[in-house]
Amino acid sequence: MSRYRESVCRLCRRDNLKLYLKGDRCYSDKCAFDRRGYPPGQHGQRRSGKISDYGVQLREKQKMKRSYGLSEKQFKLTFQRADRKKGITGTNLLVSLERRLDNVVYRMGFAISRSQARQLVRHKHFLVNGKKLDIPSCQVKVGDVIEVREGSRNMQSIKDSLEAVVRRSLPQWLEVEKENMKGRVKALPVREDITMPVQESQVVELYSR
Ligand code: SF4
Repeated sequence: MSRYRESVCRLCRRDNLKLYLKGDRCYSDKCAFDRRGYPPGQHGQRRSGKISDYGVQLREKQKMKRSYGLSEKQFKLTFQRADRKKGITGTNLLVSLERRLDNVVYRMGFAISRSQARQLVRHKHFLVNGKKLDIPSCQVKVGDVIEVREGSRNMQSIKDSLEAVVRRSLPQWLEVEKENMKGRVKALPVREDITMPVQESQVVELYSR
């Protein structure tokens, strides 16, 4: 998988939205988006004018893809699966992204960003329903219990993340026992639980071209 190696803050500035990709820094006055809220690059401050329909659709897709830290291929596969399900494709897409194990680990506060959550999952620091699971894209189900493995409970990064989580609110569909480093999926997320300002219908339009 190709990796993006430049500053991730450029992505927020490009998409004109705080994507919260750098953990603590995103909440501090060092946030590049708060300091320079215009597109990156030499002509960033001069760019203006009407964006085409395609441009709007592309920006919405990029916002969603970058926020959840997926590659183009992974994102398209997620979209195709969402499209095959019953219901509204855009909502299915957002719900599938929210149900990813790495996102749930991040939402529960065990990691400061989704990229850190993904790394922690890959390095087998979590149990799901008592079993080791190292697949970040795995979809959680109602009743699943996610907990930090016994041997990983002293990891400073996890402790620090749990301390810092008060800055983000815990979604209603999850519950967390901080002292036991454990969380549970109470219900599946619904559209209203996803507060990121994104127009999923534009993403559907883009892939329907
Ligand atoms: Fe985006 Fe600001 Fe976080 Fe950088 S620090 S990733 S600009 S929200």
